[in-house]
Amino acid sequence: MAELTPMMQQYLETKKVYPDCILFYRLGDFYEMFFEDAITASKALEITLTGKNCGMEERAPMCGIPYHAVEGYLNKLIAKGFKVAICEQVEDPRQAKGLVKRDVIRIVTPGTNLNVQGMDEGRNNFLMSIAYFQGKTGISIADVTTGDYYLTEAEDDRKLLDEINKYSPSEIICNDAFLMSGIDMEDLKGRLHIAVYTPGAHFFDEDRCRKSLLKHFHVTTLQGMGIEDFPSGLIAAGALMLYLTDTQKITLDHFTHLYPYLTSKYMLLDSSTRRNLELMETLREKQKRGSLLWVLDKTKTAMGARCLRQYLEQPLIDKDKIEKRLDSVEALSGQTINRDEIREYLNPVYDLERLLSKVSYKTANPRDLIAFRSSLKMLPHIKTLLEDFSETLLCEIREEIDDLSDICTLIENAINDEPPITIREGGIIREGFDETIDNLRHAKTEGKDWLAKLEEQDRERTGIKNLKIRYNKVFGYYYEVTNSYKDLVPEDYIRKQTLANAERYTNARLKELEDTILNAEDKLYTLEYDLFCRIRDAIAGEMERIQTTAKAVAKLDVLASLSFVAERNHFVRPAINEKGVIDIKEGRHPVVEQMLSNDMFISNDTHLDNHKYCVSIITGPNMAGKSTYMRQVALIVLMAQIGSFVPAASANIGLVDRIFTRVGASDDLASGQSTFMVEMNEVANILRNATKNSLLILDEIGRGTSTFDGLSIAWAVIEHISNKKLLGAKTLFATHYHELTELEGKMSNVNNYCIAVKEKGDDIVFLRKIIKGGADKSYGIQVARLAGVPDMVIDRAKEIAARLSDNDILEKVQSIAIDQKDTKHKPVKYDEVDLSQISLFDTVTDEDVIRELKEIDVTNLTPLDALNTLYRLQNKL
Ligand code: ADP
Repeated sequence: MAELTPMMQQYLETKKVYPDCILFYRLGDFYEMFFEDAITASKALEITLTGKNCGMEERAPMCGIPYHAVEGYLNKLIAKGFKVAICEQVEDPRQAKGLVKRDVIRIVTPGTNLNVQGMDEGRNNFLMSIAYFQGKTGISIADVTTGDYYLTEAEDDRKLLDEINKYSPSEIICNDAFLMSGIDMEDLKGRLHIAVYTPGAHFFDEDRCRKSLLKHFHVTTLQGMGIEDFPSGLIAAGALMLYLTDTQKITLDHFTHLYPYLTSKYMLLDSSTRRNLELMETLREKQKRGSLLWVLDKTKTAMGARCLRQYLEQPLIDKDKIEKRLDSVEALSGQTINRDEIREYLNPVYDLERLLSKVSYKTANPRDLIAFRSSLKMLPHIKTLLEDFSETLLCEIREEIDDLSDICTLIENAINDEPPITIREGGIIREGFDETIDNLRHAKTEGKDWLAKLEEQDRERTGIKNLKIRYNKVFGYYYEVTNSYKDLVPEDYIRKQTLANAERYTNARLKELEDTILNAEDKLYTLEYDLFCRIRDAIAGEMERIQTTAKAVAKLDVLASLSFVAERNHFVRPAINEKGVIDIKEGRHPVVEQMLSNDMFISNDTHLDNHKYCVSIITGPNMAGKSTYMRQVALIVLMAQIGSFVPAASANIGLVDRIFTRVGASDDLASGQSTFMVEMNEVANILRNATKNSLLILDEIGRGTSTFDGLSIAWAVIEHISNKKLLGAKTLFATHYHELTELEGKMSNVNNYCIAVKEKGDDIVFLRKIIKGGADKSYGIQVARLAGVPDMVIDRAKEIAARLSDNDILEKVQSIAIDQKDTKHKPVKYDEVDLSQISLFDTVTDEDVIRELKEIDVTNLTPLDALNTLYRLQNKL
């Protein structure tokens, strides 16, 4: 180290503390990177790698980025999974003796990136902390850009995965046990783009975690916070706070609350259901257009957009809460003039939550405060408009919105209407707010008047017609004389600088004026800066009030948006029941109907319950609209449970606790597992976790294997689902195995439906209407023809089809269905059964029982064994 330059020594000392980060080392107007960091970053950012003399024989590899363009480069590195430590000069270089002191002021990671410009403002940027502790998994989630901070617990890895998918954080910090869990880390990193770090066991130390929370919330006990019942959640939350303190290096004042929640309070949606129903983005293109969010999101503010996302991510299961939202949406729809006016006042409201986080980080500039002020000005109007409503939720919102007039007045009185972005060059504080500032400003402008006078006088005195007094940062004020007038320069002028076509001078009088002006300016700028910081701190002091208001505004924005969308798209208010009946008249798919032009969408009815109409088997050719129909039902239920109106003529929705979907195989390929394996995994998950209050959407189960096995599995799955003793969950089951329609009548709660098509010569016409009964043909060849398969192939296919026939299979199926009726079924617990072993042909016959009877070695049976055997055999009959 000894031979290194002092600066390089300082660099290496700092780098030693942050070995896992790329160090941005501030040098003048640049952030420089050296050695390994430089090599890595130059590649990742595609910038030139140079070298710097560092005292050693070889030059140190170096690359740099200008500080004013840091955001773009920073985002690029973060997106590639790097962490960046930002090392700033922490003393004024003009005052520094020797090497300027530098320190890391912040570590930027994917989950703590503040660069809002690079983000979708309607989305949170979540950081999640996961702590495996005493058999439970603690989860805590935070967004540094908004101050959201939650905590919960999951019983098992699947539930944990559900939460991960719900929030899709950009970063997870965890203790080592998480890495050992059954969760597929590569999938998290690859498909979900989540950076996963294990910051070290000391972050998850129970005692430290508790202390960090106590310290942050300035309390002596955690009891009042309602988090004591979440022992492992508490550790996750504490670890998260420690990590944030460690990386952000400021007190995070905008984290005013830690909200505990129970996952069981919301409808559970696993990751594949979220994806399959295309709630936030489409399956294929991964874009918002075409998703349910796209249809529902007509919010006016970024806060509202994020809040709506949250509603969609966690639909409610509590009837009262849902009805309250629906009441408000209905009331807003009944007073559209007020609603539209509210929406207009919401329009100019800025992202108060992200502004607050800037206040906390002390990065809010004067223009941010002006934006803040103009947002606050809307609040009294919104409150007044809300007075016309008496619905509980809208009244609560009105109560929660504080018009914050004190803060608004403070900003209005203190800050200029059009302040600069910079905070160190004055021009911020409004005339009349502070006497000293006014006086200094006068001195400065007076000084400028004097300068103008001096310029005039000297022009006359010297006869230099184009004499000018000018200013620059390096030389201060000077006279400028072009070469043609050089002869006229008076004796008292002292030369300062020579240019190609002019000379620059000063003199005693100008120096004197310069001192007065610059002194005043210096003082003025310092004072303005100090005062601005005090105002910003004053706002920080009102953090809680502002946050509560922001959340209330967000809720109002969502409700108004739901009302607006309901009106525009002709949605109706659903009735909500707790009897498990789903009854939809003329239901429509909210997204597909938007994609089709002028009312082309054909509506369809649905009736499902836990009795006679438990399982609907839906047949129909490909492209008939089976999956559209099934998704439509799921989406209508989900919409109702977030408190939205629904696309139907009428709807009565029995609350569901979970929606499960098993649809298609579109993104299974990426995961490297066989399609069939993925499908069976999901089926196993559904059969294990669904309850009779769940809604199941199963599309083409058993497609990934031979017809025989596929049909057998599909059959067995339906038997299990429809059996009340085993599951009895409401299910829509689309299939192209027409054989399955045999189940209707054999099981009292299974019904056949099909989507009608009309034959027209060799072609078919899709009618899109769901009707009672099963389809008898699959029309595969006709659909292939519609898709453009060449005529030659189509003709040959017809020939082959004519020779083959389904009769063989059908005969077998009918015989099994008959067996079924005669065979008593003993309930099986699915946990004990290997699904792949279940086959349609496993049914027990009387001969089997007789054979077993014959084989019993009676002499070696204990009386108890004998009784048990008898019981077992009887059950088989
Ligand atoms: P399947 O699952 O039976 O193969 P899809 O549900 O994928 O069929 O539907 C195929 C296409 O038919 C959809 O992309 C949609 O454009 C159209 N479609 C489906 N249902 C309807 C409907 N009810 N009204 C109008 N068009 C529909």
